[in-house]
Amino acid sequence: MLNIVITGAPGSGKGTQSDLIVKNYGLFHISTGDMLRAEIKAGSKIGKQAEQIIADGRLVPDEVMIEMLHKQILEHKDAKGFIFDGFPRTVAQAGALDKMLAGVGAKIDILLVMNVKHETLVERLILRGQTSGRADDNKETIEKRLAVYTENTLPVIEFYRASGRLTEADNNTTVDECFAQIKRIIESHKG
Ligand code: ATP
Ligand code: MG
Repeated sequence: MLNIVITGAPGSGKGTQSDLIVKNYGLFHISTGDMLRAEIKAGSKIGKQAEQIIADGRLVPDEVMIEMLHKQILEHKDAKGFIFDGFPRTVAQAGALDKMLAGVGAKIDILLVMNVKHETLVERLILRGQTSGRADDNKETIEKRLAVYTENTLPVIEFYRASGRLTEADNNTTVDECFAQIKRIIESHKG
């Protein structure tokens, strides 16, 4: 298996680059944001629980997210590998992910953070809000999401960095230029 975690602030291009990774390497894409939006659309219990939280730019509780992820991993354990997009977002989620993967005899192979300047993130998200229809792509909620990211997710990234496992891509650039960097990271991992 080749398991990749793609992390980075809201608007850092995780979804766009994940799609390119899926196309080129055939991994199974797990986007927790997409999954939650599908639950909201379906009007499920999780969707009802998550709707206001997402609109406010806060995080859905760890227990809910961890259970959701666990189900996906078990359902697709025969995949060539996973790309985790939007998970882990908290230290508790990071610990749970290692355990869940160990349970299927796998591990995280590549930890990738996408680096983008704050003002560029805000610009890109506001632009996306003009067409995305997402309840959280407006100026006020964008700033809230970025603050939640700094508080809850940066510690996860610092932990991965301290363990020497973090690889970084600069996405203050174009989609193609960023993907070229990611390809180099994946190819050098495969050796
Ligand atoms: P982008 O997709 O542009 O990088 P983002 O990371 O803010 O932006 P999503 O990953 O789509 O957006 O997540 C949208 C919202 O869904 C989050 O703000 C949060 O409320 C909820 N969410 C998604 N993943 C998680 C998670 N792992 N834990 C808790 N809440 C989550
Ligand atoms: Mg996304």
